[in-house]
Amino acid sequence: MNWRFWLVLLVFGGLLALGVRYFILRRQQSSDFQKCPHCRSTYRGELTYCPHCGGLVTRWSNRR
Ligand SMILES: [Zn+2]
Repeated sequence: MNWRFWLVLLVFGGLLALGVRYFILRRQQSSDFQKCPHCRSTYRGELTYCPHCGGLVTRWSNRR
């Protein structure tokens, strides 16, 4: 009976789903990929030294 209401609801729901998906994807990326503070290049895994510039990039030295 009120198709505009459902249309708005659908659009908002789609946007919300997209936002949540983007947020989750970005969170996974940030936990998987790290950024070197020296040369600003991304690398994978928990490394002690950057594979590009050789700078110290470890952030987990306190945990181990
Ligand atoms: Zn680097």
